[in-house]
Amino acid sequence: MGYLAKIGLEMHCEISETNSKVFSSAANTYSSIPNSNIRPLDMGFPGTLPVVNKEAVKMALKTSIVLNCSQPEYMYFERKNYYYPDMPKNYQITQETKPIPVGIYGHVEYECNGEEKSVRVNNIHLEEDAASQDHLFDVSTIDYNRAGVPLLELVTEPDFHSADEAVSFLEHMRSVYQYLDISEADSKKGQLRCDVNVSIMDENLDENNPKNWGTKVEIKNVNSFGGVRDAINYEIKRQSKLKDNGEYDKVVQETRRWDEESQSTITMRSKVDALDYKYFVEPNIPKFKISKEWLKEIKESIPELAYDRKKKYINEYNLSEYDSNILVKEKSISDYFEKAVELGCDIKQAANWVNGMILSYLNYNEMKIKDFFITPEMLKELIDLIESKTISSKQGKDVFYKCLEEKKSPKQVVKDEGMMQITDENEIINIVNEVINENESQAKTYDSQNPKALDYFVGQIMKKTRGKANPSVASKLMKEALEKLVK
Ligand code: ADP
Ligand code: MG
Repeated sequence: MGYLAKIGLEMHCEISETNSKVFSSAANTYSSIPNSNIRPLDMGFPGTLPVVNKEAVKMALKTSIVLNCSQPEYMYFERKNYYYPDMPKNYQITQETKPIPVGIYGHVEYECNGEEKSVRVNNIHLEEDAASQDHLFDVSTIDYNRAGVPLLELVTEPDFHSADEAVSFLEHMRSVYQYLDISEADSKKGQLRCDVNVSIMDENLDENNPKNWGTKVEIKNVNSFGGVRDAINYEIKRQSKLKDNGEYDKVVQETRRWDEESQSTITMRSKVDALDYKYFVEPNIPKFKISKEWLKEIKESIPELAYDRKKKYINEYNLSEYDSNILVKEKSISDYFEKAVELGCDIKQAANWVNGMILSYLNYNEMKIKDFFITPEMLKELIDLIESKTISSKQGKDVFYKCLEEKKSPKQVVKDEGMMQITDENEIINIVNEVINENESQAKTYDSQNPKALDYFVGQIMKKTRGKANPSVASKLMKEALEKLVK
């Protein structure tokens, strides 16, 4: 019998784009000296009081809207009580259980291997991150800089059936957070962390009935997408094998962790129940109203996201799926392309330049597009110079590099380098005549049936103009002149 995997994710994303932490005025920055971004509140000192960061609430609401969740009329927070050295208050301020979280019951459409998929969102809530710990030989260190960094936790229903689906969803959400300017969402910086829940069930049973679901195992704190993929695949295999062997009772509800070294999941503890955390409403943060006007304002500030832009590029701009994927991958790149299109650049040309010359230059020089000298306006100039045949497309590449080297606009480079193509027919006819006079005997024996014969004469024009004559005009005029001569 086959099994169907059911997978639910609890995705944590640190908000990196607020100035300060979620309940204190300490800076929300990453790269500073350990224990330098802290206020007494982050250390849990008695007598300190939390103040809610409005910007963080706004970002949380923005995400809630994008996830098609319902937003609460009033916001509350609650205390989740437990002891751990990385949490000196002995409780975390969060909002998962009773008081309504910032978003509830939504759904997200995402793409997996070219297919459109949908996942239900149970809730999204705003909470504070804990401090970070490091364990060295026989000492452990704690850095409280991270304590109080705003954190969004998104809880999905167990709608994923494979590691591919789960990872595609995570990639989709990373892009959403980046496009919304909420977080860099960089898993290398620990900004994205995931708890992965996996169970298997008989594939013949109805998966919409939770009674048919198997026992779930939670894998805590997987901090890379590769880890999520490996942990899911490992867990499906482990559980299937036990079930095959009639040992399904060995799959128990527990918390495991992903161990990179052994490439396996390892038991951490049996599942802690919500009851153990003794949740209660955080008394130091009065509930506050989310006005309809504010929600409307937030809704209107939501930009077009990668998923929608990609659809537009394929369906309206007729770009390939491959090109569209590259263009939307980073918002700043996509913004640059959008600006060029808005300025009236030929869409296909703009896409080719951005995905070709520009991205390779940026990657090679490890540069961000915001620091790139050629603006969308200049790109338009360059494309127009080529389209109008003022320069050839090969010259276009030279102009591109010269612009960057000499910090000049394309027009300026073309002017300074005398690169204008000669397209004026009168000017070219003069050169045609010169060439014929200088090569009289060859011209008189010109064989119009031999296609190669013309090449020599056109070559002479190019030599005289140092390649600046427009090749198609030059060859047309030369052909006419020679044919007239030998007629
Ligand atoms: P708990 O009360 O144990 O925390 P929740 O119902 O809050 O469980 O769900 C936590 C996560 O586990 C969610 O992402 C949910 O989708 C997922 N989940 C719940 N049941 C299952 C299951 N049978 N198999 C896989 N994932 C599950
Ligand atoms: Mg739970």
